[in-house]
Amino acid sequence: MNIVLLGSPGVGKGTYAKKLSEIYKIPQISTGDMFREAIKNKTKIGLKAKEYIDKGGLVPDNVTIGIVEERLKKDDCKNGFMLDGFPRTIAQADALSDIINIDKVLDFTASEEIIIDRLSGRRICKSCGTIYHIRNIIPKVKGVCDKCGGKVYQREDDKPESVKKRLDVYKKQTEPLIEYYTKKGILRSINADWPIEQVDNVIADARKALEE
Ligand code: ADP
Ligand code: ZN
Repeated sequence: MNIVLLGSPGVGKGTYAKKLSEIYKIPQISTGDMFREAIKNKTKIGLKAKEYIDKGGLVPDNVTIGIVEERLKKDDCKNGFMLDGFPRTIAQADALSDIINIDKVLDFTASEEIIIDRLSGRRICKSCGTIYHIRNIIPKVKGVCDKCGGKVYQREDDKPESVKKRLDVYKKQTEPLIEYYTKKGILRSINADWPIEQVDNVIADARKALEE
């Protein structure tokens, strides 16, 4: 199954994507993770993307579409995939539909209060990308990833100035995709307004929507 995950920054998309990709044994393709990896490795794309990302803006469509197109050609996508963070603009969605058929779109929703709390408290492992939260998901040793021993840090774009910008960008550029995919009849809305310990509820709803 070819799946797209939509939802505001901070809704927990990355966490749900990881779980669902394990359950369905299909790759999680996160453009945010791909950009962070490129930045870490100081590739050409990484250097370009960094300017936009740190400020909370979007990386230009042509760059983003290019990396997704390359990624979808890989063998592990043959039996399906889960796109996490792409598309984020109508232009990206149009480009995607030219590349491949999408079976279902899950739109995760949560209140603005929850979203801002998740974003401002979020911490992430520099090495493996595991997500933590200063109050709700705390690593056993402060600043050290439980899974790989990597450094746990706050993303530049999770600082308050960039968070506000990202939420604005989401409203203007990404929210129109809800109507776009509703019209195609493939969008399902998933309530993610749960405390993070209850992530299993969200996963259960997502599975129902995918298996209906
Ligand atoms: P979040 O979902 O928490 O905003 P991501 O890790 O998905 O974070 O993305 C981080 C940043 O990477 C975005 O704010 C944006 O700058 C860039 N990015 C990720 N995906 C895209 C995309 N599809 N188009 C443009 N920029 C993107
Ligand atoms: Zn780690």
